[in-house]
Amino acid sequence: MTENTIIPLPEPPAFGPKARQPTGGVKVGNVIVGGGNPIVVQSMTNTDTTDIKGTADQIAQLWRAGSELVRITVNTIEAAAAVPRIKDRLDMMNIDVPIIGDFHYNGHTLLTEEPACAEALAKYRINPGNVGFGKKKDTQFATMIEKAIEYDKPVRIGANWGSLDQALATHLMDENALLAVPKDAGEVLREALIRSALDSAYKAFEIGLPKEKIILSAKVSGVQELIAVYRELAKRSDFALHLGLTEAGIGSKGIVASSAALAVLLQEGIGDTIRISLTPEPGQSRTAEVIVAQELLQTMGLRAFTPMVTACPGCGRTTSTFFQELAQKVQNHVRDQMPVWKIKHPGAENLTLAVMGCIVNGPGESRHANIGISLPGTGEAPSAPVFEDGQKTVTLRGENIADEFIDLIDSYVARNYSP
Ligand code: SF4
Repeated sequence: MTENTIIPLPEPPAFGPKARQPTGGVKVGNVIVGGGNPIVVQSMTNTDTTDIKGTADQIAQLWRAGSELVRITVNTIEAAAAVPRIKDRLDMMNIDVPIIGDFHYNGHTLLTEEPACAEALAKYRINPGNVGFGKKKDTQFATMIEKAIEYDKPVRIGANWGSLDQALATHLMDENALLAVPKDAGEVLREALIRSALDSAYKAFEIGLPKEKIILSAKVSGVQELIAVYRELAKRSDFALHLGLTEAGIGSKGIVASSAALAVLLQEGIGDTIRISLTPEPGQSRTAEVIVAQELLQTMGLRAFTPMVTACPGCGRTTSTFFQELAQKVQNHVRDQMPVWKIKHPGAENLTLAVMGCIVNGPGESRHANIGISLPGTGEAPSAPVFEDGQKTVTLRGENIADEFIDLIDSYVARNYSP
């Protein structure tokens, strides 16, 4: 064997057929991920975990916005010690949302030294690129998996482009260099990310963590790369998959990039839980990422969370901003009402609404909605016909059109969605 010989890494064994549905899904607290269950929305706090009140309050806020799983940073012994106290605080608020611990570098120590933290968390997220270095890497990884087995917790093996396993990447690069026709470096690094996730999942399985306790992710920040990576992960395993574009960015860029990438994958049936990693704009609530995730799933027809408002963009036929304000008011109203409607009027999340600016498309679009209003455009008679399930029911006039329309929505919900 010459000095330059590179021993190819063995491929981890395939995990059953490529029909991407692990039996029954992965139970994370009171939520099931995968197994054909509805795609789960998750989010992550940005508080210091040692700030017990601040973190519990933000988890509560995210949960109220609709986050079904919430991840928190567990980076120090103090943060680990805070976890059970955060959980107690949430229990006092009657909030039963699974909390996921995000571990890097010292997770093996924290889970060992703070058993109450290991118990309180509903799932552990392990980044295989940040488990440790050299010989310690395998033992530290094994310790975390053993803790998951001991406390009967699922694990997300979450590889990330920004913290790629360097030893694995170097090995695959060396292997590639010896090929007659070496592959593009980007392709090799993508393969390293996929292998990092799959190899680690197989190691966890060998240690004794059942397949039904493992969720995989391999996040990158580029849309096309993310699609390529997840198609490959889905082809090569049938683990439940967590989808997300990492470091998606701020504002519309983050929303568009995440939606573009995730929509392609979700349309192909890839993905069991999603997170939209938005950088909040200054002063913006952390809940924006939950709302975007819900709207992505709902606009794709995959789940329903809150009534959706169809509104026209407006044009030269309507010079007032009244219809924009009405569309906003209606969207805010239904979102605010949804926590109550969820209990009192189940099914109301499927309601469709239309707020239209003039007679051109107004009556037609309003007829397609459960309840719609066609406002008068410039030069039209000052009247706003309302349509319910395709039939014109009333025409609103005067100063109180907005409030009257909202009353009509409330009574439609009360009439049509009974417990
Ligand atoms: S419905 Fe009327 S106001 Fe709205 S975009 Fe169409 S033409 Fe313009």
